Amino acid sequence: MRQRKQVFVAVMVAGLLCATTGEAGQAKAKLERDYNVKPVPFNEVRVEDGFWTPRLQISRTVTIPYTFLQCEQTPRISNFEKAAGLRQGKHQGIYFDDSDVYKVMEGAAYSLQVYPDTMLRLYLDQLIRIMAAAQWEDGYLYTFYSLPEKQPQKRWTNEKDMHEQYCAGHMYEAAAAHYQVTGDKSFLNIATKNADMICSTFGPGRRTDPSGHEEIEIGLCKLYRVTGDRKYLEEAKFLLDQRGRLGNRGPKGDGKLYGAYAQDHIPVTEQTEAVGHSVRAAYLYTGMADVAALTGDMAYIKAIDAIWQDVVGTKLYVTGGIGASGGNEGFSGKYELPNLTAYCETCASIANILWNHRMFLMHGDARYLDVLERVLYNAVLSGISMKGDQFFYPNPLESTGQHERSPWFGCACCPSNVARFVPSVPGYAYASKGDDVYVNLFIGGQASIETAGNVVSLSQQTKYPWEGAVTITVKPQKSATFGIHVRIPGWARNECVPSDLYKFKETVDEQATLKVNGRGVPPELSNGFARIERKWQEGDTIELNLPMPIRRIIANEKVEADRGRVALQRGPIVFCLEEWHGLPARESGHGQDGHATGKVLNLIIPDDAELKAEFRPDLLNGVVTITGTATLSKRTEEGKIVQAGTRPFTAIPYYAWAHRGKGEMTVWPPRTLEASRPAPADTLTYVSKTTASFVHVSLDAIKDQAEPKSSSDGSSQQLDFWPHKGTTEWIAFEWGQKREISGVKVYWFDDTGRGECKVPTSWKVLYRDASGGFKPVQNKTAYGVQKDAFNKVDFARVSTDAIKIEITLQEKSSAGVLEVIIE
Ligand SMILES: [Zn+2]
Repeated sequence: MRQRKQVFVAVMVAGLLCATTGEAGQAKAKLERDYNVKPVPFNEVRVEDGFWTPRLQISRTVTIPYTFLQCEQTPRISNFEKAAGLRQGKHQGIYFDDSDVYKVMEGAAYSLQVYPDTMLRLYLDQLIRIMAAAQWEDGYLYTFYSLPEKQPQKRWTNEKDMHEQYCAGHMYEAAAAHYQVTGDKSFLNIATKNADMICSTFGPGRRTDPSGHEEIEIGLCKLYRVTGDRKYLEEAKFLLDQRGRLGNRGPKGDGKLYGAYAQDHIPVTEQTEAVGHSVRAAYLYTGMADVAALTGDMAYIKAIDAIWQDVVGTKLYVTGGIGASGGNEGFSGKYELPNLTAYCETCASIANILWNHRMFLMHGDARYLDVLERVLYNAVLSGISMKGDQFFYPNPLESTGQHERSPWFGCACCPSNVARFVPSVPGYAYASKGDDVYVNLFIGGQASIETAGNVVSLSQQTKYPWEGAVTITVKPQKSATFGIHVRIPGWARNECVPSDLYKFKETVDEQATLKVNGRGVPPELSNGFARIERKWQEGDTIELNLPMPIRRIIANEKVEADRGRVALQRGPIVFCLEEWHGLPARESGHGQDGHATGKVLNLIIPDDAELKAEFRPDLLNGVVTITGTATLSKRTEEGKIVQAGTRPFTAIPYYAWAHRGKGEMTVWPPRTLEASRPAPADTLTYVSKTTASFVHVSLDAIKDQAEPKSSSDGSSQQLDFWPHKGTTEWIAFEWGQKREISGVKVYWFDDTGRGECKVPTSWKVLYRDASGGFKPVQNKTAYGVQKDAFNKVDFARVSTDAIKIEITLQEKSSAGVLEVIIE
C-alpha cells in the first residue's frame, strides 16, 4: 500500500494545478418518462448499521484503493498512459481490460459522494486527464487498438468478440456517476464524445452490429439521463433491436449472428428464456428494462417478464446466484443447478441485482426485491472477502476443499464489479412513487426521500439481518397524508422464492407484526408491502417485527442436485456447513473428536434434528450460527452406505465461507442416508498417497468413490490436466508398504461441447519394482478409452508399494479422470 500513497501524492500535486470544481446535484435532465417507482439515490441514504457500515468502510478504505493499485500494477492504467503518449510500449493484458479501470472509477465516484476525499478526487482527475489524452480526435477510446500506435483499420472489425462497445458502456456509467457526484464535466465530455462517435458509426442506414457483450445499452441510458440528449436513448434502443437480426454487420456488411451465447439468436422481444452467458444476459435484461421505462415500449417488458419467470422459476440458485455452467459462463437448462460445479459468477450476481432492482421500479412489486435481497446477502457477499481484498469469480454451493478467494484475476471483471457495486448498496434501500415512500431493505441509518409534494425523512434502527426488529422513525418536512410501504419479505410470509423452485419445508404460523406509535396495525399486504396510510407527523414511529425462525428449504424435485437435500435459512441469510478444525469442543459444548466441526460432506441433517440459532460476536466478524447434531454416512468396503454415528455441526452464513482456510463446504446437506455422500471406504485407492504430474480441479476427486453418471457428469468432480494438451501425464499411488495389485479401473472425464477434455489417445499402468524404477505391467486385457463407463485393465499380479498411470493426451485436447479403482 506504500506505493499507493506515492501515487496519490504525485497525483495531488499535478491535480491541484487544474482541479475542476462544480456543484453536484445539477446532474439530472428532465425526462419525458422513466420508471413508475423512483429510486432514492444512495447519496440520500446515510448508513449507520452494524452489518453494512463496516462493509462500506472497507469498500472505501481497502477495496477501491486496492483495485486501483491492481489496475496500476497489472498494468491496466499504463495502457491508457501509453495510449496518451506518456509512455511507450505495446498493449499489455486482455483486450477489454479498460473496462476494469472504468468500473473502479465508478465505485470511487459513489464513494466520494458519501465520503469526500480530496486525494481520491484528485486521483480520478488525473486518470480522466490521461483518458482524455488517450482519446482519438474523433472520440474513439479503446487502448487495445491504440497501441503501440493507433490502428484505425482494426477498429469495429469484430463487434462479436472485441468488446469495444462493452468497454464504452462501462466508461459511460463511470462518467455519468463522476458527473453526478462532482458536477465536473471532464469525464462526461470524454464519454459523450465517444458516444457521439458510436452513434454516427452504428445506427439506421449505417453499421448495425450490436456488441457481443451487452453493457453499452445501460451506459447509453445513463448518458441520456444526465444529458437529456434523446439520441443516446435511441441508440440504446437501436442496439437492442439489432440483436437476433442480421442487418448490416461487419465492415463488409456480411457479419453473422452471434448466437444464443450472446443472446443474439432471435430478436430480444421474442426471447422468453434466459440463455447463454449470464452476465451478458442480465446486462441485456437490465438495458431492456431501462429502455422500456424511458420509452414505454411494452414489448420489452413482456419479454423480460417472461425471462424473469424462467430464471426465478427454473434457473436461480438458493443463494440468488445465476449461471450454473462454467463452460459458457452462463445458463444451463431448466432446473440444471449443480452445486459442486455451480459457476454463479460474482458479476452475474451483481447483474441479477441490477436487473431485479429495475423490475421492482417498473412494477412496484416486492417479489423482485425478495430476489434482490437473496442475491445481495448471499451470492454477492460471497464474492468478496471480509477484509475487502480477495475475491471469488465463481461462487459454488459445494466444495471439496479446492476453493479460496484470489487477490486478483487475469480477467478481473469480478473484483472491479464488486468495487463499483458495494458503495451503491444504500441506493437499493428506499424508493418513492407519487406521495408514497417505500422501505425496501432493512439497513440502519437515515434517508431523505423526495416525493411529489414533500420531503420525507425516515430513520431505521435495526440489527438486521441477525434480528427481525426494525424501528422506523418518520419525519415529513410538512405533515401530510401519504402511504409508507414497508416490505414484508417473502421469507417472513412463508414464501421462500416467488416461484415453486424452492419451498420452506414447514409453514410457520408466527406472522410479521406492525405497530404505529406503539399501537398494533394489521399489515394489509399489497404487492409484498404493508402500506400504512395516515397523516404522518414528525416523530411518528413504525415498529416492524419479522420473526426469524430457522427455516429448512426443500428444492423442487426437478432439481436433481438438491434431491433428498435441505438448505438452511434464517432471515435473508442462507447457511452452509464448512469444514473447520478450529472450534474447540468446550465452546460448542460437545464434540467427540475434540472438535465441533470437521469434514462436512458426509454429514446428514435429518428432518427431526433440533436446530438452534445463536449470535456469535467472536466468529467471522459476528455472525449467527445454526448448530445441531448431524448423522454421519460412511461407505463400507463392500460399497454399502451406512450410518456411522453422530456429530455436532455448526452452520455459518454462506457469504462468510472460505475465511478459515480451505475445506469442504455445502449449502445443501442431505436429509437422508440415500442422498448422502458417504465418507469413502478404506480402499487401496483411498488409502494411497496420490500425486499427479499436474492438477486441475481436484486430485481427491478420483478417489471419492462417487460413481460418475457419465463422462460429462457435472455433479461429480474430476482431476484433469487442462490446459495441457498433447502431453503425457501421470498419476501415482503409493502405499509405504507392498500391496498385491492385478487390475486398475479408470473412468475418463470428457467435457466435449463444454470444455477441452477428451478421452486420451492411450494409457498404461506401471509399477515400482525392487530397483525403485517404474516398469509397465503385463496387461491381459486392453487399455480402454470408452466414455461413460469404467475402463478396466487386468494384468499379471504385481507386489509393489507404488503404481503409476501414464496417460497420453490427444494432440489438440486435454484429458481428465473422474474415478480410479485399484484392485
Ligand atoms: Zn466477473
